[in-house]
Amino acid sequence: MELYKQHQLKIYNSLSNKKEAFEPLIEGYIGMYVCGPTVYSNVHLGNVRTFLSFDLIYRYFKHLGYKVRYVRNITDAGHLENDADVGEDRIAKKARLEQIEPMEVVQRYTVDFHNVLNTFNFLPPSIEPTATGHIIEQIEIIKEILEKGLAYEINGSVYFDVLKYNENEHYGILSGRNIEDSIHNTRELDGQSEKKNPQDFALWKKAQPEHIMRWPSPWSDGFPGWHLECTAMSTKYLGKQFDIHGGGMDLKFPHHECEIAQANASNHQMPVNYWMHTNMLTLNGQKMAKSTGNYILPNDFFTGDNKHLSKIYVAPVVRFFMLQANYRSILDFSDDALLASEKGYYRLMNAVHQLDSLSASKSSTLPINDWLKSCYDAMNDDFNSPILIANLFEGVKYINLLKEGKESLNAEDLEVFKTTIKAFVFDVLGLVDIISEDTTDKLATVIEMLIKMRNEARENKDWALSDKIRDELLEKGIQLKDGKDGTTFSVN
Ligand code: AMP
Ligand code: ZN
Repeated sequence: MELYKQHQLKIYNSLSNKKEAFEPLIEGYIGMYVCGPTVYSNVHLGNVRTFLSFDLIYRYFKHLGYKVRYVRNITDAGHLENDADVGEDRIAKKARLEQIEPMEVVQRYTVDFHNVLNTFNFLPPSIEPTATGHIIEQIEIIKEILEKGLAYEINGSVYFDVLKYNENEHYGILSGRNIEDSIHNTRELDGQSEKKNPQDFALWKKAQPEHIMRWPSPWSDGFPGWHLECTAMSTKYLGKQFDIHGGGMDLKFPHHECEIAQANASNHQMPVNYWMHTNMLTLNGQKMAKSTGNYILPNDFFTGDNKHLSKIYVAPVVRFFMLQANYRSILDFSDDALLASEKGYYRLMNAVHQLDSLSASKSSTLPINDWLKSCYDAMNDDFNSPILIANLFEGVKYINLLKEGKESLNAEDLEVFKTTIKAFVFDVLGLVDIISEDTTDKLATVIEMLIKMRNEARENKDWALSDKIRDELLEKGIQLKDGKDGTTFSVN
């Protein structure tokens, strides 16, 4: 039986601001959409934190046996510098500054994004669509919204009519904003805007002559508004209504509020059952962000070259550090906290290494089933990874007690204990066992050294020694192969 049938998962829904029992639209299947990065610069650790939270969530769903279609887009057009539909397109601006093509910018930072996520052991999403690959779908949605009378065209651009929409629907349903307040609080930018009301947002923008990223449309040669791409891609791959939509808290308004309005306007349907928002990573108490210079790049951990870091750290330690906070809590970065996580990570890994050497006894003296339940309870309570980790450290205590012979487990309990720890550490938390990797690297270095010694022996025509090295390695399961490019080895 699939594990999810034995567990009632609760998810904090930002739409109701409550933890709710999770019921997917189709039993056993989950559709999840997460807003991806705007690929105009390197992702910083804050961005990584948000994507990591969803990696954890995706991994837990899979662990429970759900079939998940996880869609995470790449924003490669339409995201302007300013949320009020003014300023340059972020990618076009970078291309102008660097004197390269916008698609070169997109390629460079998409590759960087993937490299970073691979380094941190993320699972790839099921589909990773791009905004530029879905212009036709976006144009179709604009047509539908225009037909419903909830958008208007002006000078080749099309804007969503927020006030009109709000007559029958609630613009602000997600962010809790009241439209009257927002009318009051929105400053018009020196009459620059051609919108009827400052709350309206762009569905299509006519491109200025110098704007390179442009597509033909019934209204003008231009480009889609930022919010539209996510409506187009989520609808295309997950349907008009799907289970989960996520992103960082800062996307709640206007981005996700506008997505709800667009979907409602074109489909008469609330698109998403559970909205999930992750909290921010801060540095010195301020949100980590490129624009303020208050950020750390993932690569800085591997070089140690950053004023906020006292030393080099490996990726699983950084991952572990972020998993020690709940995804809905603010996490402030500090080198001290990272040092503490490093200790914790190695303590956990060393204990996991002992697991296979534990042997079963006739009877059990540890409450393995209660412990197992606490691990699942933590994750079932809105993916509470810090509580799960606390339970895993309880497991570390058990391992030590078992090793010292102070407690015992029967064969069945021992098997449950081992598989559960490994499943949570590697499959759900996505930690990598760097200690084993380290050992493999060291083994390779030693074999290379022996190959060198054998080569020297052969040069000296000391065949007895060279054969001895080859034969003894073979006895240990390491086979040397002499080829025209030198000697290689394989471990059997
Ligand atoms: P962007 O490329 O700016 O759209 O950001 C990609 C994702 O990172 C979005 O979901 C943002 O909400 C998220 N994000 C940006 N800054 C932070 C931060 N300091 N902490 C956590 N998530 C962040
Ligand atoms: Zn989005």
